[in-house]
Amino acid sequence: MKYYSTNKEAPIASLHEAVVKGLASDKGLYMPAEIKKLPDTFFEHIDKFTFQEIAFEVAKAFFGEDVEENALKGIVYDTLAFDCPVVPVEKNIYALELFHGPTLAFKDVGARFMARLLSYFIHKDDIKEEVNVLVATSGDTGSAVANGFLGVKGIHVYVLYPKGKVSKIQESQFTTLGQNITAIEVNGTFDDCQALVKNAFMDKELNHVMKLTSANSINVARFLPQAFYYFYAYAQLKTLNLHNNVVICVPSGNFGNITAGLFAQQMGLPIKRFIAANNANNIFYKYLETGIYSPKPSVQTIANAMDVGNPSNFARILDLYHGSHAEISNRISGATYTDEQIKNAIKECFRNNHYVLDPHGACGYQALKDGLSESEVGVFLETAHPAKFKQTVDKILDTEIGIPQKLADFMKGKKSAVELAADFNSFKAFLLQNKNAR
Ligand SMILES: *Cc1c(COP(=O)(O)O)cnc(C)c1O
Repeated sequence: MKYYSTNKEAPIASLHEAVVKGLASDKGLYMPAEIKKLPDTFFEHIDKFTFQEIAFEVAKAFFGEDVEENALKGIVYDTLAFDCPVVPVEKNIYALELFHGPTLAFKDVGARFMARLLSYFIHKDDIKEEVNVLVATSGDTGSAVANGFLGVKGIHVYVLYPKGKVSKIQESQFTTLGQNITAIEVNGTFDDCQALVKNAFMDKELNHVMKLTSANSINVARFLPQAFYYFYAYAQLKTLNLHNNVVICVPSGNFGNITAGLFAQQMGLPIKRFIAANNANNIFYKYLETGIYSPKPSVQTIANAMDVGNPSNFARILDLYHGSHAEISNRISGATYTDEQIKNAIKECFRNNHYVLDPHGACGYQALKDGLSESEVGVFLETAHPAKFKQTVDKILDTEIGIPQKLADFMKGKKSAVELAADFNSFKAFLLQNKNAR
């Protein structure tokens, strides 16, 4: 499969190139040249297959030309070593729980897949030189990437995070791992971390002596596998005979997750429509209303993984529907919630259903409450386990929610991080010194 850039000014890339580069040279996002329709028989029998079997069929449509079949099967089966169940919450409303992976958030799926795919290419092309993954994080991305790549041979991961600005729970998920993971605690903000990573990719000398790559959410190897669980959700609804008039609601920040759902629909998955649920960062909501896309600096909310003022995957949505506002608003409707409304949704849902939402899933739940009609079946993506936001959720519900064993185990680990100033020369010197020390 060939990959083109949404800006159409970069050379066409192979899958391997698109994965290693992340962003195309014209700063566009890579798109697969073709989105293959899956056969009707696949959808007729989808409820007879396991999650792994379904995902393998979907993966073959994207990666089948570039990855040998057995290897691809191994990558998919290994990635999806946990379930993504559809759980009833209240009448006509279901949660697709994407938090049963190692770091309890949906980003585990893409991060694990990308690590295994990159490792496949390193072996296939017999790359001897170590590959270095640089990732800046405000919390969730760093943990998913670090755990996804943990122990993968030939790859070293550097996670940069702002000192004192991520929660203890989040910090423990990437500072206690050791092995091929180095955590760097930057005296600065998330933007400083991101700037350090960007500067590293542009530094000629550094790129001459080290192979650098990014694992951020725009990477096709992280983005495309997110389509898997939309098919699996549909399969589970079919088992319950609830597969007609399905509305999928996605709590959205950078819009990677929902775009993967739109790809699934293009492949033939019978989804009636989508809802994109925003927190107060409602650039997409405004776009649907007005037809004008005007990015803004992000504002801080309690659903902080969605605090995005310029959603990068908007470029993919535009490309998918040839820039047509009419087509986009036909398929996707919007919703936006303040912190007060998010808190109320968490309270109400717990009171009425005894289901504990996290602040991101709460936006999705509320958007279904507000936008679903009688004849529709609504599924919202529960993107993280509420215990990842324990302080916030405990305060809202005035209770102590339990911590899953996986999370408790991280918190028992010993923190190891390198402290650095938000200064590119110190960062560069550290990378070079660390490379030589290994
Ligand atoms: C990353 C994240 C989101 C937003 O997903 P996008 O693909 O960026 O739209 C929502 N919820 C949680 C918990 C996340 O970590």
